[in-house]
Amino acid sequence: MQSDRLTERLDRVLPQTQCGQCGFADCRLYAGAMARGDAGIDRCPPGGDAGARALAWILGVPPVPYDRSRGEHAPDMTAVILEDGCIGCTKCIQICPTAAIIGGPKFMHTVVEPLCVGCELCVEICPMDCVLMEHLQNQDQHEKAL
Ligand code: SF4
Ligand code: SF4
Ligand code: SF4
Repeated sequence: MQSDRLTERLDRVLPQTQCGQCGFADCRLYAGAMARGDAGIDRCPPGGDAGARALAWILGVPPVPYDRSRGEHAPDMTAVILEDGCIGCTKCIQICPTAAIIGGPKFMHTVVEPLCVGCELCVEICPMDCVLMEHLQNQDQHEKAL
């Protein structure tokens, strides 16, 4: 199989949060490194063990658990913005990899739950500490949207 086609197949099963926890700047670069044999299948916390299994299947290598030292797998969590704290700075909108946050400058922002992949980037960047992670209320709805 050609390397770019293999890269494409691997990239398709990655979560596309572009969080960098794998040590690459985005999911595509990690997929390319795996296709070339330069990186293992265990580097993506958002994908978790199920994601590592999918990568192993595509590459025809034995499955291994993902490397916990790279971060937590939190597929059942969603971000929630506390309206009292939000100053509408838009930092969370700009960093969200899945466009799951809506709002305008100086207006309260809201998370569209089915689009949130739980990467926590908005929690880290919020200057007001007004973004929390909560357990998903409707896992079926979340998975359907993805
Ligand atoms: S850790 Fe996973 S989701 Fe994050 S950039 Fe790497 S491949 Fe993408
Ligand atoms: S955790 Fe925040 S940044 Fe990450 S996908 Fe959800 S809303 Fe977007
Ligand atoms: S980063 Fe925090 S304060 Fe800024 S818009 Fe998002 S939730 Fe509101």
